[in-house]
Amino acid sequence: MGGTELSPEFELERLSPDEAFAILGNDTRLDILRSLWEAGAHHEYDDIEATATTISFSELQQAVGIRDNGQFNYHLSQLIPSFVRHTDEGYRLSGAGKEVFRTLIAISGEQNSSVPDDLESPCPVCGGTLTAVYEDQWLRVMCTDCDGNFGDATPDGTVFNTPFPAAGLTDRTPDEAFLTGNYRCMLDMTYLMRKICRECASPLTSSVSICEDHDATRDRSCTICVTDFPVWGDLRCDTCRYAKRLPVELCAMGLTPVITFLHEQDIDVLSSSFRELGEVIAVQFQTAVTSDPLRVTVTINNEPDELTVTFDDKLSVVESTC
Ligand SMILES: [Zn+2]
Ligand SMILES: [Zn+2]
Ligand SMILES: [Zn+2]
Repeated sequence: MGGTELSPEFELERLSPDEAFAILGNDTRLDILRSLWEAGAHHEYDDIEATATTISFSELQQAVGIRDNGQFNYHLSQLIPSFVRHTDEGYRLSGAGKEVFRTLIAISGEQNSSVPDDLESPCPVCGGTLTAVYEDQWLRVMCTDCDGNFGDATPDGTVFNTPFPAAGLTDRTPDEAFLTGNYRCMLDMTYLMRKICRECASPLTSSVSICEDHDATRDRSCTICVTDFPVWGDLRCDTCRYAKRLPVELCAMGLTPVITFLHEQDIDVLSSSFRELGEVIAVQFQTAVTSDPLRVTVTINNEPDELTVTFDDKLSVVESTC
């Protein structure tokens, strides 16, 4: 035993992004993948049917509609083994082939570029009217009455902004989409605080950034960093370029001791609205920074109980006491 690769086979199957694009950049090959998907011939795990089916060379060739055996075989062979598997029973999509299809389905969904109607929930900042905007696979909830809570980083009035696959808008009201977005964000926090990339499972690099002369008041954001929060966690994936920048109090909400502490007060971090979480942060959370070495301590107070979590400059927990 030993070594860092899962198996010799794993080493053989590794593809660079350039190689993957080269393989998929061909209409016939995409038709092969689509035909396998439509025939239900794919990697069996996590599938709704629970049984993998395969189809034969001739069935697949007929579905794709290419008569020339040699030409068809050439394109099919280019997809094997990364995107298509050839087994004793026939052909099916590989796990990666299925992921490619899932991604396409997630991002297609409804073609409308906006979520109509105002939300029923009030603005978490001012209690005003919220409206949802959907653009470029992002769901943004904006207040029509105030500047929102993201400062200059987003358009005026933004109170919530998250990547949201178009498929997830189908059959949801704007309020339901907002709650679903909240849930996804808070679940992301649990990944982020374990330094795991939500998108590609690579390790994340992380750090904290601090507004040294933060001057936010109850009524307005800081004039220097243009946000309400002086300490932010920065997390990024160098493999797939996924990145998040969030107030350290929200980062703390991705940690099991904090989730548990709040759960004991009947606050479910994962299914609370941002308004509820904002209120909890305002009432219970206090953040302090000390230097040499840099430490950020978040204290959560719910008399008579108190939980403190201390982060280092890499956003790693160095101490947690209850
Ligand atoms: Zn508002
Ligand atoms: Zn500031
Ligand atoms: Zn990644």
